[in-house]
Amino acid sequence: MKEETKLIQNILSDPLTGAISTPIYQTSTYVQESPGVHKGFDYTRTNNPTRKILERLVTDLEYGYDSLAFSSGLASVDAVLKLLKYKDEIVAVDDIYGGTFRLLNLYKKLGIKTKFVDTTDAEKTISEISDNTKLVWLESPTNPTLKISDIEYISKKSKDINPKILVVVDNTFASPAIQNPLNLGADIIIHSATKYLAGHSDVLAGLITVKNPDLYDELKYIQNASGGVLSPIDCWLTIRGIQTLYLRVKKQSQNAYDVASFLEKKRNTCIDKVYYPGLSHHKNHLIAIKQQRYFGGIISFSLKDDTIESAKKVVTSTKLFKLAESLGGTKSLICHPSTMTHKSTPLEVRINAGIQNSLIRLSLGIENVEDLIEDIDQSLK
Ligand SMILES: *Cc1c(COP(=O)(O)O)cnc(C)c1O
Repeated sequence: MKEETKLIQNILSDPLTGAISTPIYQTSTYVQESPGVHKGFDYTRTNNPTRKILERLVTDLEYGYDSLAFSSGLASVDAVLKLLKYKDEIVAVDDIYGGTFRLLNLYKKLGIKTKFVDTTDAEKTISEISDNTKLVWLESPTNPTLKISDIEYISKKSKDINPKILVVVDNTFASPAIQNPLNLGADIIIHSATKYLAGHSDVLAGLITVKNPDLYDELKYIQNASGGVLSPIDCWLTIRGIQTLYLRVKKQSQNAYDVASFLEKKRNTCIDKVYYPGLSHHKNHLIAIKQQRYFGGIISFSLKDDTIESAKKVVTSTKLFKLAESLGGTKSLICHPSTMTHKSTPLEVRINAGIQNSLIRLSLGIENVEDLIEDIDQSLK
């Protein structure tokens, strides 16, 4: 069975009533026959049937052993970091998601050090691994300049050095419709399901998927101990959204490809750089072709007039692209990283990561692409 069919068929009707839509088990506790004798559910922090269904769906999408649903993407990042102990080290992609960077700063206080490296350089990434390295942390594509790292190669080489190293891939920007890191040798996948999985900008959610049962047990223990679980209603919203994942991501990727090609043509007038893995001049275009099904729904570009003012003019004059943080929803969004998502990143770090003053990020929705191009075109005038 093909993936699109499998996803839909895996959303089973309720065995009790035949309801074709997943029931929302809005309950905190469950009646037991005698102490410890129950139907597999005793308390919703530990387990909930609606959450179980979501976790099974994402496990299937990512070819994993099992998954865990959390109240946000960062709650799932936090659970993975709790696998570590004092003096453990992490080798991480240098333009890691800002919230993850902030969290790693907190863990630094507990004696867990992170070495940041440009993971598009696989050899350099491997050379940063030490005896204390426990995790290799990748994001691909990254935010906002869409750098792509070779997940398969880095996973293999890391494990050649030490089979116990866990390779973590934050798969938020790609989504399982585009790439499946567990099949490329990674051990843990993280999703901010807030973005493409839920897909409608109406829920905050996080998912972890693993391929090893012992690792699942460890993370399940951490989740139950810390308690940042996803509520039944938000599980339902994510299940509702996920059903159109393949449709949305395919359309969003097509839209992004067309808008990127349009922006590319504008490089002889007002546009300076266009960052999109689908463009043949993108630095990691060939790796993108190797490990992705589509090139994704996010584009970044900078202006010839590289000032905050000129970028602000563009992001406030689009009509269809709404000015907002976040990404992956059905509605197209525009954002100015320097003054929004990356406002707290020090200027030098920001410029080093290629986040110029005028850099603008687009998250393509599912609208008609001609309308979207017209909107961007008029905003550049
Ligand atoms: C948004 C995001 C997160 C954090 O997820 P939340 O649901 O906002 O907590 C983590 N990683 C990436 C790549 C993200 O884009």
